[in-house]
Amino acid sequence: MHKAEAPAEPLIIDDDEPPSSRLAIDTLYPAPPAGQPAIQLTRPVFILPARKTSSLRYPKLSPETKAFQKQFFPGSTARDWHDWQWQVRHRIHTYDRLHQILPLGPDECLADHAVQLPLSITPYYAGLIPKDVPDHPLRRCVVPTAGEWVKMPCESDDPLGEDHQSPVPGLVHRYPDRVLFLLTDFCSTYCRYCTRSRVVGHGGIRASRARWEKAIAYIAANANVRDVLLSGGDPLTLSDDRLEWVLSKLRQIPHVEIIRIGTKVPAVLPQRITPKLVKMLKKYHPLWLSLHFTHPDECTPDTRAACALLADAGIPLGSQTVLLKGINDSVPVMTQLMHGLMKMRVRPYYLYQCDPITGSGHFRTAIAQGLEIIRGMRGFTTGYAVPTYVVDAPGGGGKIPLMPDYGGSHTNDNLVLTNYENRSFTYPDPMPVQG
Ligand code: SF4
Repeated sequence: MHKAEAPAEPLIIDDDEPPSSRLAIDTLYPAPPAGQPAIQLTRPVFILPARKTSSLRYPKLSPETKAFQKQFFPGSTARDWHDWQWQVRHRIHTYDRLHQILPLGPDECLADHAVQLPLSITPYYAGLIPKDVPDHPLRRCVVPTAGEWVKMPCESDDPLGEDHQSPVPGLVHRYPDRVLFLLTDFCSTYCRYCTRSRVVGHGGIRASRARWEKAIAYIAANANVRDVLLSGGDPLTLSDDRLEWVLSKLRQIPHVEIIRIGTKVPAVLPQRITPKLVKMLKKYHPLWLSLHFTHPDECTPDTRAACALLADAGIPLGSQTVLLKGINDSVPVMTQLMHGLMKMRVRPYYLYQCDPITGSGHFRTAIAQGLEIIRGMRGFTTGYAVPTYVVDAPGGGGKIPLMPDYGGSHTNDNLVLTNYENRSFTYPDPMPVQG
């Protein structure tokens, strides 16, 4: 998968040079047209001295991270740790290696070799998981358990019916004006509840230019497609050059208005968000990013730095979260996650009911639980912090939003509503006159 990756980028990359004082004066007071007098400055222009930019983009390694790195990746440096390609090369993808780092419990040992989705965890993400907390939420997200063997009658490998809405391999056209374009099946870290576990990590949707060209030709031939969502796998695990090739081709299609990228990279591999990548991405605006977050412990200083780079480049950031039993299925945890995201300038977007994917029963909550979480947030915190709770309808029906019941009964031309504190209010709303 990574044979084709570009060689490692240098860690220390300065941003663009700040303008010199001379350049700033020339910009403020350009030369007058021929024949007109030059503007005379009556007093010296105060130009701020060029700001010294720090070449260190990421926070210093914490003592805990240093100890973790020293114990499990001896000989590696801080520079290695901040290099996304080092992180990918050193991902944990065998059970023996995982057992060294996070000693496995009986349920986890049973999962060995038999599960559909491969094992992969970046050193960075593994370092966030305390080894002596067997049920730690981040551990449950990425360490397989025997629960993945259990297939419930309601479950299937393709519950959203994507394979039936795929006019070309790796492209799903479900809604009239937008398509889902799966660029790669590779992720640096695999989420155990992944909706696309049938294809992710198996080589089913290879990152090949021949396949991409077919998908791009389909988009070019369908003038109603104004929005392209790039997903996978994780598109940001591709090299800058390969990703730019796709973005530039899409930007040549006049009817493609916006491009979105779905990624979990800022949570599991924040080192990937380099100034060079961001500089490339911002050439293809309007470009939006949908970031996948699961738990407040993912809002680390490194992730904050990555989101800051993206937000500073004018890339709107939205979040997607899957509701997961024992991981984020409570009002306090969900609220803390959404607050953490807002502080990183990531707008909470969707909270997904966990899809009935094969082997996901141990992750799924009742829908009533999701509604209670929304009820416990709406009105109690900033409206922006409350995501839209959706069920992705099995069989390809698309996302259906769900809201707690806030009343809405009509009596005598009045609508009776219940607020977040369970108090009733009446809004004048005359019934339409018949005939
Ligand atoms: S990052 Fe997305 S595509 Fe990759 S394993 Fe997680 S949910 Fe699946």
